[in-house]
Amino acid sequence: MNTIKIPVEVEKELNKISKVAGYLWQREWAERNAGNISLNLTSFFKKEDVLGIGEVVPFEFPKEVGGYVLFITGTGCYLRSLIDNIEEAACILYINEEATGYSIIWGGKREGFGPTCELISHASIHLFNTQNNPTHLAVLHTHPIELIVMSHHPLFDNEAELNRQIWMMCPEVKVFVPKGVHCTPYALSSTVELAKVTIEAFKTRNVSLWEKHGATSTGEDVEKAWDYLDVANKGAKLLLTAWGAGFQPAGLSNEQLTELEQFI
Ligand SMILES: [Zn+2]
Repeated sequence: MNTIKIPVEVEKELNKISKVAGYLWQREWAERNAGNISLNLTSFFKKEDVLGIGEVVPFEFPKEVGGYVLFITGTGCYLRSLIDNIEEAACILYINEEATGYSIIWGGKREGFGPTCELISHASIHLFNTQNNPTHLAVLHTHPIELIVMSHHPLFDNEAELNRQIWMMCPEVKVFVPKGVHCTPYALSSTVELAKVTIEAFKTRNVSLWEKHGATSTGEDVEKAWDYLDVANKGAKLLLTAWGAGFQPAGLSNEQLTELEQFI
């Protein structure tokens, strides 16, 4: 199979992905084939470099993503394989100009490889970011333990209060997840419906907490996307730890939370 030469800047991004995959595995946020990662690499490649490589696989994309070049993890692949086997567990694909299919231009070396079944969600989020948040090139979906637990709690039905209780646990949660967590209603994996509710989440919040499933964030690169999930999960973990110890935490006051807004 033909394959392209990876520019140095892209190589740096791939190294960050391998590093974050290690964090996800160690945190028990990426069991088996859980989670997926993508990166919008369109600006790193010239059209003539990506045309005519690989077979076109038909796929129904939103038409505006025609011409995108995306790094994306594979369906059924284990995220922990990204640590030292990224070319088997992920690929770079080029979406044709008509947005009717994609071709794999790098990686995907595993037998029977295909991109994650959440491809439609990732492509839709990248389109949303191009239009609304163009510096955010990375999308990270994973299964952060304490955030998932919170999505089973009655607080999940009261997004404002859930955020207040997470923010009140320590200043960094308010400062580094300033827009908070969106309580995204349950939708079946790999559906257009899930893509829709996730985009709704990113209109107002930093993190989309998929009810009874996992969480998704975007960032300038995969490390920044990871930071949103890591810090939000810290708030959830602190809250659950206090509850587990049998007390309702005092929490930062509303005045103290407002005072922190100068650092955002
Ligand atoms: Zn998941």
